[in-house]
Amino acid sequence: MRISVKAPAKINLTLDVLAKRPDGYHEVEMVMTTVDLADRVDLTLREDGEITLDCSASFVPDDIRNHAYKAAVLMKERYQVRQGVHMYIDKQIPVAAGLAGGSSDAAATLRGLNQLWKLGLTTDELAVLGAEIGSDVPFCVYGGTALAKGRGERITHLGTPAPCWIILAKPPVGVSTPDVYGNLRVQEITNHPPTKQMLQAIERQDFSLMCHSLGNVLENVTLSMHPQVRQIKELMISSGADGVLMSGSGPTVFALVQKEAKVHRIYNALRGFVKDVYVVRMLGASEGEVLA
Ligand code: ATP
Repeated sequence: MRISVKAPAKINLTLDVLAKRPDGYHEVEMVMTTVDLADRVDLTLREDGEITLDCSASFVPDDIRNHAYKAAVLMKERYQVRQGVHMYIDKQIPVAAGLAGGSSDAAATLRGLNQLWKLGLTTDELAVLGAEIGSDVPFCVYGGTALAKGRGERITHLGTPAPCWIILAKPPVGVSTPDVYGNLRVQEITNHPPTKQMLQAIERQDFSLMCHSLGNVLENVTLSMHPQVRQIKELMISSGADGVLMSGSGPTVFALVQKEAKVHRIYNALRGFVKDVYVVRMLGASEGEVLA
């Protein structure tokens, strides 16, 4: 028996850091939404109890360092599952890009194994389990659009934002999320995003207010490490983007536009500069899709 699960990328419409906690995590407030750039996770039942993994990208780990593998081990141990699984990840989301590719693969694995191993867990239970793997995994279990608080695991579901086009561009550098957080001076943050205003923009489906409410406190940290991120932002703005922001800890930058004609202009301008450029839409659904 085999099932395939979609693992969509996310972008941050806002990312705020409120405090550094005594447990070492950061207290965050983030508005995130899934987009239609996705990995595919194929799960094939193994009766011998083994967990194995292959990935189309050879540089992604295929052992316990892989978030999807971790998800399978956690689920098998927690629910004392006798069966195993072979996982294949068709990697489409750029790695170490601020798009939560690894977290989304883990979330897709949890959703898929819940079916394959007939565990009957609720989505809320899967999200709680996901928090043990990584801070972005609970959001990825639900998908859609949400406000994430705490260290990212406290999720409030939001409506669908105003429809628009999103152009993603990733410069050819990988960014380590722990490095970026390590270089952040929480007391010195001056560019906190207007999170409440973003929530209003989403509720009212107000595209212009959404563009004006974008903000990410990690942007300056990553910009100082990778100047290409600033160049991409400037190129997007000069090509007519309505809103521009770096996602997560970067280095991927996205542009929001409503007019289709602008999409081509921005895409063409970026393609002369970086190889990884994608035109995507936000996903409306609040739960990840199981393909077959
Ligand atoms: P986030 O936005 O959640 O910080 P990211 O998009 O910046 O995530 P990932 O693509 O998840 O970053 O990769 C971060 C690291 O995790 C990489 O160094 C990679 O080796 C490792 N990793 C573990 N599992 C996976 C996976 N399934 N896909 C991609 N990377 C993975």
